[in-house]
Amino acid sequence: MTQSDLRTGGRTLAEVDLGEVRHNVRTLLRRATGSRLMVVVKADAYGHGSVEVARAALEAGAGSLAVVTAEEGAELRQAGIDAPVLVFTDLLPEKLALAGEHRLTVTAHSLPSARLAARYPDLKVHLKVNTGMNRWGVAPEEVGEARRVLGGSLSGIYTHLASADSDPGATRRQLDVFDRVLAGHPLGGLTVHAANSAGTLWHPRSHYDLVRPGVAVYGLHPGGDHGDPASEGLRPALSLRSYVAAVRRLQPGDGVSYGLTFRAPGPMYAATVPVGYAEGYRRTLSGGAEALVRGERRPLLGRVTMDAAVFGVDREVEVGDEVVLLGVQGEECVAAEELGSRAGTINYEITTGINPRRVERSYLENERS
Ligand SMILES: *Cc1c(COP(=O)(O)O)cnc(C)c1O
Repeated sequence: MTQSDLRTGGRTLAEVDLGEVRHNVRTLLRRATGSRLMVVVKADAYGHGSVEVARAALEAGAGSLAVVTAEEGAELRQAGIDAPVLVFTDLLPEKLALAGEHRLTVTAHSLPSARLAARYPDLKVHLKVNTGMNRWGVAPEEVGEARRVLGGSLSGIYTHLASADSDPGATRRQLDVFDRVLAGHPLGGLTVHAANSAGTLWHPRSHYDLVRPGVAVYGLHPGGDHGDPASEGLRPALSLRSYVAAVRRLQPGDGVSYGLTFRAPGPMYAATVPVGYAEGYRRTLSGGAEALVRGERRPLLGRVTMDAAVFGVDREVEVGDEVVLLGVQGEECVAAEELGSRAGTINYEITTGINPRRVERSYLENERS
């Protein structure tokens, strides 16, 4: 056993195909010709590993990266990554110093945050404008004041789209607001950006100087709990794999897992798999998910527990057989969108929720990319 096998128990593995990441980066660059590509690697690259994804994405043509905390940016720098890195959200004063140390670009998202950033003259700053999402961003009428405060530190201006995956009308109204802001101020050399994955794929008007996709880089559909990434030429990069650790025969009426919520309708076999909600296999999947064993879909029986889940199988399934909880096995595929929908959430939360202290990541390079 290696050191990391000892930490994770070597039980359930997240496999990330960096060839697919590269493919998705190239696909997105083709969808936004004329714009540069900033790859969003926040939250450890949505559970895929930020350093590895960042390197692969930059090699495939991305020009910059985005994160949410100064620590996430520092981690990229410590790995030797030199590309520009933008921090999206609020930073406390001591974190602004850390950002400066690591040459991160920070976001001024309010007048107070602009004033704070202006106290660190070496920091580069992008100004975020609220065009309707009402989460982060200065009001359009505060842009002039924020620019005065920031002076020569300001190198970019951006906004964020609330419903580019679902509501073209609301997206158009946000871009109208943004365009009025841009028309009302001299932009001289500022980098202008707005598009998340959905904007990159479906709203060319939002492309400006650079696009900022996250979820699509990982081959996931921006619709969250529906949609097929393949329809956009995207390929999922991550699969979650475990193995059959025990098989038992159930008699009619036997219950399974906490609360005995599943009862065997007849004689059947049940396989115990060492993956639970501590791994990120969500408890709300209970009773409604499927996993792949020997190339076939197998129903989850009863509740997901912290450390294990039980699936209905055939008599030929054996201890040691591979179990694919997310990803492809043979001709079958369990997509992150499917798991999201069955768990009452979205694909984003499925991959981001994989716990790296329980689930070791391994990387491979698919040759077809
Ligand atoms: C997370 C985030 C993105 C990326 O969004 P996706 O839907 O994953 O493409 C882009 N911009 C900002 C400001 C974000 O917070």
